[in-house]
Amino acid sequence: MALSVPFAMPAFQPGWVWLVGAGPGDPGLLTLHAAHALAQADVVVHDALVNTDVLALAPAHAEIVFAGKRGGKPSASQPDISNRLIALARAGRRVLRLKGGDPFIFGRGGEEARALVAAGVPFRVVPGITAGIGGLAYAGIPATTRDTNAAIAFVTGHAASGSVPDTLDWTALARSASVIVIYMAVKHLPIIVQRLMDGGRSPDEPLAFICSATTPDHRVVVSTLGRAVADRDAHGVAAPAVVVVGEVVRLREQLGCWWDPADLGALLADVAAE
Ligand code: SAH
Repeated sequence: MALSVPFAMPAFQPGWVWLVGAGPGDPGLLTLHAAHALAQADVVVHDALVNTDVLALAPAHAEIVFAGKRGGKPSASQPDISNRLIALARAGRRVLRLKGGDPFIFGRGGEEARALVAAGVPFRVVPGITAGIGGLAYAGIPATTRDTNAAIAFVTGHAASGSVPDTLDWTALARSASVIVIYMAVKHLPIIVQRLMDGGRSPDEPLAFICSATTPDHRVVVSTLGRAVADRDAHGVAAPAVVVVGEVVRLREQLGCWWDPADLGALLADVAAE
């Protein structure tokens, strides 16, 4: 059953793999293409960070396959996942590979797409709202404003080797990107903040942890580069979280949790009272 919309949407052909971004958590942040794909899939292979509520959009006959990390156990290896997608497609299924956020942002979607091409399997990519965009928006932190920043950098704090990425020139990053959004930064935070401060960023610069963004567990902890490690520990900040560094974090004071009716009501009442 396809999604009912008043314009043409591509049909999900048997034997194809669609690499689909599920967004950061809130099911409402799925794209129409993602909802349309779910409605037609025969098999959905999903990661741990996908909100499983959205799986209800798949038809009753669809097979749901989990391919992420659970309970600290090692995740299925990337070649295993790619080979499974290829085998399912060759068996004539409509294979939906569902990933948290955007499939091509630190999501290994690029590796999977290349494996599909190498195997001659037709595919489509459905971008999703990445945690660094959706999470910031739900934290009341605009990713850019004309007053604060002309650039934004998305960075991973965790290389394939498991350590902080050494291929990254942290000093150049510290100098060039006034707003830096770091994924997978919780574990290696001490090294990351030190490298940014060594690169010239002030310990007083605002920083926010945005945890489980856009989900019911959404939580924001505001700190500074200098206090970040102590605040991470004091507040029990845990993955999944994005860390945002830059002046834009201060704008949260004015925008708050706009999606929370009580917060928005208080913000608007304050303005009305002035
Ligand atoms: N493809 C994903 C990123 C996968 S890497 C995307 O585009 O969002 C996994 C990292 O993404 C997590 O460690 C965390 O840094 C971030 N992340 C994903 N979902 C998140 C969420 N709901 N809240 C906060 N961070 C999230």
